Amino acid sequence: MEIKLAQRVKALTPSSTLAITAKAKELRAQGHDIIGLGAGEPDFNTPQYIIDAAVKSMNEGHTKYTPSAGLPALRKAIVEKIKRDQGIDYDPSEIIVTVGGKHALYTLFQVILDEGDEVIIPTPYWVSYPEQVKLAGGVPVFVEGSEENEFKITPSQLEQAISNRTKAVVINSPSNPTGMVYTEDELLELGKVCVKHNILIISDEIYEKLVYGKNKHISIAQLSTELKEQTIMINGLAKSHSMTGWRIGFAAGNKEIITAMTNLASHSTSNPTTTAQYGAIAAYSGSDESVEEMRKAFEERLNAIYDKLIEIPGFTCIKPQGAFYLFPNVKKAVELTGYENTDEFAKALLEEAKVAVIPGSGFGAPDNIRLSYATSLELLEQAVERMKRFVESKMKITQ
Ligand code: GLU
Repeated sequence: MEIKLAQRVKALTPSSTLAITAKAKELRAQGHDIIGLGAGEPDFNTPQYIIDAAVKSMNEGHTKYTPSAGLPALRKAIVEKIKRDQGIDYDPSEIIVTVGGKHALYTLFQVILDEGDEVIIPTPYWVSYPEQVKLAGGVPVFVEGSEENEFKITPSQLEQAISNRTKAVVINSPSNPTGMVYTEDELLELGKVCVKHNILIISDEIYEKLVYGKNKHISIAQLSTELKEQTIMINGLAKSHSMTGWRIGFAAGNKEIITAMTNLASHSTSNPTTTAQYGAIAAYSGSDESVEEMRKAFEERLNAIYDKLIEIPGFTCIKPQGAFYLFPNVKKAVELTGYENTDEFAKALLEEAKVAVIPGSGFGAPDNIRLSYATSLELLEQAVERMKRFVESKMKITQ
């Protein structure tokens, strides 16, 4: 039988972050000594108190459907978390619990976009934003966050990108893949443009808890009532509590949008897994002690390997302020080693240096590669050493 796929998935490619991670795991299973710096996935186990709460809920028989927007107790815990961290008030009816932050974004685009509506996406961007926008019939409009400007976009760039079809802009701070964090002033200025043009702000704050040095996470929603009303906040537990596989995220904001998202969820996922929701209640109600421990470990690793990374010939890198990625520009290294482009270079890093990294093309930044430092310091040091040796040996051959 000839299979004809729907038009809208024909151009859909698999997520490069997940695909490379899977490939690295497969190679490792075959006995190859691969160091995986691909996935944005903390290497810590989920804190025990969260696991215990989930197990207890199952033993108590909480194994049935929940409301599509999530358990009332979880939505209340999320309301309290936002009050604690951002100082803003939401009503539980303005919260939907989703199957990870990714699903919150997917559902959001589905309910706000009509065919041809535009969403402004700063580059470099996380791989799934443009695909999700397109799947909802929307058009991604890219605005370049240049390396000279710490990969951030400016208010005038934002304003220039706005058309009468613009529905929303995505702000992801701390950023995946660059690790950059927008300051309060920068967010205020971007916010002014959004308010002036009545653009919805999609604020992806999944790396909220992972900020380093003097940097601070600010949510654009906390800066004024107007901005709060215009923002849909996206967050989740994957990165902060090392709960990637649990798939618990949320969206907070305008009630009409949240209700539409809930209606859509009721026809797709019904509800996020009940057991995971019970774990999430414990996570959001517990102290942030283990979150802080993990944050500190990431910061130590970053500080330990950053200097070594920029010693690799042809690598330059802005020091990240948050998240757990390094996003070096390797244009020069690609030239020095004689590869055609960064994709080929990254492929060779995997096959020859045995280090899995994500090429920047999937993030709209073809001169960069992304390295996740959510792995042990020992492995990170080995990985950087391998990459250095690889580049140096290829340079000798091409010279
Ligand atoms: N968000 C993480 C990453 O960028 C996990 C994989 C994914 O969802 O893209 O690596």
